[in-house]
Amino acid sequence: MQGGFTNPAETGVEMKSITLIKGDGIGPEITDSVIKIINAAGVAIDWDIQTAGADVIETEGTPLPKRVIESVKKNKVALKSPVTTPIGKGFRSVNVQLRKELDLYANLRPCYNLPNVKTKYDKVDIVVVRENTEDLYAGIERRVDENTAESIKIITRSASERIAKFAFDYAVNNNRKEVCVVTKANICKLSDGLFLDCARKIAAEYSNIKFREILVDNCCMQLVQNPNQFDVLLLPNLYGDIVSDLCAGLVGGLGIAQGANIGKDYAVFEPVHGSAPDIAGQDKANPTAMLMSAIEMLNYIGEKDAASRIKLALFETLNAGVKTADLNGNASCSEFTQAIIKRLAVLVK
Ligand code: ATP
Repeated sequence: MQGGFTNPAETGVEMKSITLIKGDGIGPEITDSVIKIINAAGVAIDWDIQTAGADVIETEGTPLPKRVIESVKKNKVALKSPVTTPIGKGFRSVNVQLRKELDLYANLRPCYNLPNVKTKYDKVDIVVVRENTEDLYAGIERRVDENTAESIKIITRSASERIAKFAFDYAVNNNRKEVCVVTKANICKLSDGLFLDCARKIAAEYSNIKFREILVDNCCMQLVQNPNQFDVLLLPNLYGDIVSDLCAGLVGGLGIAQGANIGKDYAVFEPVHGSAPDIAGQDKANPTAMLMSAIEMLNYIGEKDAASRIKLALFETLNAGVKTADLNGNASCSEFTQAIIKRLAVLVK
């Protein structure tokens, strides 16, 4: 299935209590939209609502209180909307901390054309598998002196082999043909070199999946020239962040780009985009990225029928030309949501 994957612990788990992290910026708007749609699809979920980010620092002294982590540990699954990360200063990214604390080592970002979303490219179907726990995101930085700063890039064998294995298993389980590892191993010879070596080692264990290697700069050029040549991309954390935004741009932008953070024990589903403060509170945001992430969450917990119904209602809505401004439409977030709910009502009957 496009973009789909199966809970490694096999699904069918009776797990209807789910953590909901509402976030900030456009977070609350797109969350409300998605919850209304899931309710309309007839899925009964006991949402354990948790707040995080700048708004809770004053009262709780941290942007990511322990209760949020405990809630995800209890429920095993979370749906999360974006939480703003301050640029250049301020607290450490809540997203990064959450991924580290829960050891959500795989960031999965499927990227394909949606119906009636016209872009320069057709038939794009790429899955970005991004290592989620180390690289420059380890946050080890220091100011050497007034004019010099340094950041340390951490790449370990265990994390690199683990994510390579995830990418190849994903390829096998989802009928994919090729995994392409993306590095800058000609410059970062030791760190990216290790990531590449690990990918080569794991690739040798999967004779049915083609293995390809590419440098990240060439990969970016190839993506904008001919994205159809790519299947599963395997990247260290930072390149994965950048290249997945590029891939989102190929198929219609951040408003439709879904994501999931998967670990051995927990999974957190969230859109690729940030909190989009420039359009927050204006009823302009596209909830599709969050909805597509929620659809994968429903698949993950075994609610496959509801997931299919919601996807069909979303696709029919787009096909009918109801679209938000980022897709050159004129529907507000709430009008788009209502249009999906209206179609769901027909499908649910
Ligand atoms: P972060 O670093 O936190 O991931 P970012 O730098 O990727 O954030 P975003 O907050 O994702 O930035 O926003 C980038 C641009 O995309 C903004 O112009 C924003 O309005 C737009 N955008 C992001 N998400 C959506 C959405 N769901 N609907 C419409 N536009 C969006």
